Amino acid sequence: MVQVFIIGAGNGGKAVLSRLLQFDWFQVVGVADLNPDAPAIALAREANLPVYLEDPIPFLGEMEIDLVFDLTDNPEVRSQLVQISGNRFDVATGEVAHVLWDVIQELEDRELGIKKKLLENQVLLDISLMLSRSETPDEIFQAIVEGGMRITGMPAGSLSVYNKHNNKLFLVATKGLSSEFYQNAVYPVRPGGLTEHILSNKDPILVPDLVDFPTFNNPIILKEGIRSLIAIPLISDKGPVGILYSDDFKPSRFAPTLTDSLRMLATQAVIAIQKQQAFEQIKDLSIRDPLTGLYNRRYLNKVLGSEIERALRLNRPLSLILFDIDKFKQVNDFYGHVMGDHVLQELSKYFESILRPYDVLSRFGGEEFVILMSETGQGEAVASAERLRKVVSELELLPDHAKVTCSFGVCTLPGTAKGAITPNEFIQYADKALYQAKHEGRNQVRFYEY
Ligand code: GH3
Ligand code: MG
Ligand code: MG
Repeated sequence: MVQVFIIGAGNGGKAVLSRLLQFDWFQVVGVADLNPDAPAIALAREANLPVYLEDPIPFLGEMEIDLVFDLTDNPEVRSQLVQISGNRFDVATGEVAHVLWDVIQELEDRELGIKKKLLENQVLLDISLMLSRSETPDEIFQAIVEGGMRITGMPAGSLSVYNKHNNKLFLVATKGLSSEFYQNAVYPVRPGGLTEHILSNKDPILVPDLVDFPTFNNPIILKEGIRSLIAIPLISDKGPVGILYSDDFKPSRFAPTLTDSLRMLATQAVIAIQKQQAFEQIKDLSIRDPLTGLYNRRYLNKVLGSEIERALRLNRPLSLILFDIDKFKQVNDFYGHVMGDHVLQELSKYFESILRPYDVLSRFGGEEFVILMSETGQGEAVASAERLRKVVSELELLPDHAKVTCSFGVCTLPGTAKGAITPNEFIQYADKALYQAKHEGRNQVRFYEY
């Protein structure tokens, strides 16, 4: 251990002392200054070090010392020290202190750099492990947002997934932001806005102060009080899949090495999003009909049960429209099966586009469909069916302007009996009405009378 004495407790002395205190191979055996208010005196007292408010030269000779820092800038002190030191201790002046300081600084920087690298590796490793285990996508998304915050040292962040079909971003995880921010869960990519800029960029975008980037000032970000941010575009081999943000509520200074670590995190985020999308697709397969993309019968049955229960419990109306393409066998026979499939697909797209978002449209069987309309009474349901009937009969889905028609059966809850009804019964009643529509000439709407 190197025993050190410091003479001169001004700012230079304080700087040297604070550095020396961080290393356990230095032992500071005393700090001297004639001025009791000198900055390093207070620091020495805090650290429980011996303090001398007098000229230390007379007793330095008797102390066990290896090194004296002379930070007085006083030639008198200097020459006295040289005289008494002999071979017993070395004397370092302010000049040497500077060199030493630089070395210590360098060591500190290195240690910080290593610590930072360790932290980054830990973050990346944690997320790799999560990706390889069966953690849910939501948990992984949250870990990625928090990992970004740990790497950047920023107090907030979010992750959004990009949907290229509707050019919108969907917020999947946030941290350190208000619930209001989370409520704006879907946001469109505005032409010329920050988001578009980020998505078209392959590199992380660092905004040290949003004040300097007026075009980036989007109202949601401003309202949240975000002042600086890092946005990492998440790009897969098929194009952009999302954006990872780290945010701060004050201006930031970013280290130039930051983007390298963030790039690794971005790679993991891309994998997490792709994993989630694959997961969604598999989930979708089990509830969607492959030809039309509409919900399948299994999904309808599930929804029907809970919707009927809800309607009866709250005494709210619920309507079901069952409809069937007229003489579809002839369409297949005349134009071929491929054309038949095409008609099914086109009709499905058309129905989807004109129904309300909360109407559940499903393919019930071959050329039969069901629309479940909550909060919809009989009059409204019959009117909707009538509108659909008319629209279909005017569409030219077949070659040579040939058209198809559909027949509709409507059933509405609660019926007169008001008692419990099973999903099967509900569909059977609508089927009875549909049968009547077919029987009475097709291309019509009928409703079930209890
Ligand atoms: P109706 O007016 O009484 O409903 O007459 P229809 O010919 O439509 O009735 P039917 O139930 O006898 O025939 C339904 C036809 O729908 C027979 C079947 O080949 C066809 N179909 C069912 N599913 C598909 C499909 O996925 N693709 C194609 N192209 N045709 C299908
Ligand atoms: Mg038919
Ligand atoms: Mg049929």
